[in-house]
Amino acid sequence: MVAAPPLDPPATDPAERMLRLTNDLFPLCRSITGNGLRQTLRRISHEIPLEIYEVPSGTQVFDWVVPDEWNIQDAYVADSHGRRVIDFQKSNLHVVNYSVPFHGRLDIETLRAKLHTLPDHPDWIPYRTSYYAPDWGFCLRDRDLHELRDSHYDVHIDATMSPGSMTMGEFLVPGNSSREFLISAHTCHPSLANDNLSGIGVACELAKYVASLSERRFTYRFLFLPGTIGTIAWLATHTAVLPHIEGGLVLALLGHNHPLTYKQTESGHRRVDECVLYALKESGLGFDTMPFEPYGYDERQYNSPGIHLPVGCLMRARYAGYPEYHTSADDVSRLSLQRLSESLDVCRRTVDILEQDRCYRNLSPHCEPQLGKRGLYESLGGRSDRQALQQAMLWVLNQANGRTSLLAIAERSGMSFGVLAHAATLLRERTLIEESQGS
Ligand code: ZN
Repeated sequence: MVAAPPLDPPATDPAERMLRLTNDLFPLCRSITGNGLRQTLRRISHEIPLEIYEVPSGTQVFDWVVPDEWNIQDAYVADSHGRRVIDFQKSNLHVVNYSVPFHGRLDIETLRAKLHTLPDHPDWIPYRTSYYAPDWGFCLRDRDLHELRDSHYDVHIDATMSPGSMTMGEFLVPGNSSREFLISAHTCHPSLANDNLSGIGVACELAKYVASLSERRFTYRFLFLPGTIGTIAWLATHTAVLPHIEGGLVLALLGHNHPLTYKQTESGHRRVDECVLYALKESGLGFDTMPFEPYGYDERQYNSPGIHLPVGCLMRARYAGYPEYHTSADDVSRLSLQRLSESLDVCRRTVDILEQDRCYRNLSPHCEPQLGKRGLYESLGGRSDRQALQQAMLWVLNQANGRTSLLAIAERSGMSFGVLAHAATLLRERTLIEESQGS
């Protein structure tokens, strides 16, 4: 009897799990439709219970139409000896994503017009797409372009473009109310690590964290969607859900060595803005913020005027803001476990704050209530933060006007949100404060 090969031990560290997921997903030829995208979502469903569904090609979604499905088996450019000088099997970035099928023999000048390189980075392959204009092309290292000396080349793109569907994935984690918070990551980039796989990894681990909470005030919806068209399609097919969504966060570019960057919602002053910024400050990590602008990732769709959802975006660096962006140099070797962990930590803190931040009303507002007779001093006995907790109770009581959130009290008092939230719990247990409606 032959012993079964040992299984990989389950990774217990979230950063290791994110890296393992990234390594598994990296080789797949993803796009906005097709089998690479399907396999990606299936792999994610081994991490979290993803609901996977398909939107048929031709479906009208607001001003857009879900395109025909694209699948690719092989593609290459071969020289006169039949040698593959550009080969999809070596990197899926070599083919312009969504290239139409093509077979022919071309002279070098005609071929050149279909080739894309990065002269400033001659060892990197660029990533290019042609989703909505039927076209084809190849991407290659600039130094390899200069090696093309034959007069003619054979070009083969074994791809199909035909009616099918676009695949989307979703994980809903119910809370005590139908009020929702959404987390969104794009899933359409092929072999690129920081740009899209890091966001997917952090979103998966955040989903596990949220699902592990013993109680949730909000319902959380994790969306894994092809960029732009996927998000537009999701929004167009979920209009009944939209009124429940109070905010959200797009996750992208979270594994590199750049400082964390928070892009604000369109208004810049929504609950999610406050929670993320406080989480970033509390983390002690350096960070940048940037105001909303209508380009970038899918926050563009969420914050469009007819949708009007306050969705920010957490990144490290800005889209297109690092040299390896959309090139073969954005590979797994450049991801940092520590940076992925830090990014996840800020997301978890954001959820913690979101869950605990409330407005309270003081039920004994005429002068300070007597805390000692309610045992509130004794209950602090021995705590190292006893004095801070006492002060926090006084701040909460003073500011509990039904409109001022704990986070606003934290900002004003300079006290930690965690201590204020603990003080609020003690005061609520003694019915000195009550939560105000809709806080
Ligand atoms: Zn991108």
